[in-house]
Amino acid sequence: MTGVAAIIVAAGRGERLGGSGGPKQYRMLGASTVLARSLCPFVEHESIDAVLVVIHPQDRERYEAAVPRHPKLLAPVAGGQIRQQSVLNGLEALSAFNPEKVLIHDAARPFVTHGLISGVLAAVRPGTGAIPGTPVADTLKRRGPEDNVAETVSRDRLFAVQTPQGFVFSDILLAHRDVAMRGIADLTDDSAVAERAGMQVKIVAGDGGNMKITTTPDLESARSRLGANLPDVRTGNGYDVHRLTGGDHVMLCGIRIPAERSLEGHSDADVGLHALTDALLGTIGDGDIGSHFPPTDPQWRGASSDRFLAHACNLVRRAGGTITHLDVTLVCEAPRIGPHREAMRSRIAQIAGIDEGRVAVKATTNETIGFVGRREGIAAFATSTAVFGSIGEKRE
Ligand code: MG
Repeated sequence: MTGVAAIIVAAGRGERLGGSGGPKQYRMLGASTVLARSLCPFVEHESIDAVLVVIHPQDRERYEAAVPRHPKLLAPVAGGQIRQQSVLNGLEALSAFNPEKVLIHDAARPFVTHGLISGVLAAVRPGTGAIPGTPVADTLKRRGPEDNVAETVSRDRLFAVQTPQGFVFSDILLAHRDVAMRGIADLTDDSAVAERAGMQVKIVAGDGGNMKITTTPDLESARSRLGANLPDVRTGNGYDVHRLTGGDHVMLCGIRIPAERSLEGHSDADVGLHALTDALLGTIGDGDIGSHFPPTDPQWRGASSDRFLAHACNLVRRAGGTITHLDVTLVCEAPRIGPHREAMRSRIAQIAGIDEGRVAVKATTNETIGFVGRREGIAAFATSTAVFGSIGEKRE
């Protein structure tokens, strides 16, 4: 292979992060994992031909669950005890492909950009690696005995360096083999390996946004940056229709209304409450009214539909949801809904245990067209809104 490969180093245990959520590269950041975010810009970069992730031997399942398939993505390889060994394992695995250049990136940096990758890649030459760095802005002190300052260190020409770090593939493979053979095991980045092997390494412009996630506050700040701490507001919709047949009343939104015909079907055939029940189940992805209350089960024949709505409300609350709004639209030629609207709102609010101000009941005719227009049936559409904490906290 000519071209460019990328190694994403994801074999660490992330012990500094603490908590019970597992290694940091598999924690959620918005809707995907830290690892998936870190490798995506490489997979999507037009100059990169193959991406290889080095994982902890015990993380195979986590990896499969965390990373979407992509043709550029090679099978992951197992890392070693220390970062240096993990990178060497990745390089050895890539030697079968023999790329011209390689970029080595830490999975804990999920905000790497296309531009940063291009900048590093453009500076790589035979015998010369390239690393992104930003000038150190803080004043630096060296600590002496008893927490006293021993000296102020000049920050002149000091840079904080990041990944990805880029090299000619054969250069860095030989450098890693060389330091490993000499038993050197304390090098914290690949530039240090290259330096030990006598290579030149050029610093290119780093990106202040290319943060590394090491601690829990780092993860929190990464999440706020993504808006992952936004409230987890979910909207569900529901639809129902029942046939009109002989009778003297209809049940709509929990209210019995005298009418020339009745609705037939499941339970008391209250299309309004059925649509609302489905809308609520929609916020938690928990099936529909038919899966909770099968129409074939005789115990629901003629049953009052408030039970279904109350059950769906309980399920949403059990899942951690707060029901904030219920909205239903009835579609019928008759009866007229206007005179019953307030009673319906009040009944729905009572069943759902929410304020009446959070319930809307609307109605329209179907302009005498279609099955509703021909008075063959009554339909209802419903929308429910529930809030489930915040998107970020929900996932751990
Ligand atoms: Mg129904």
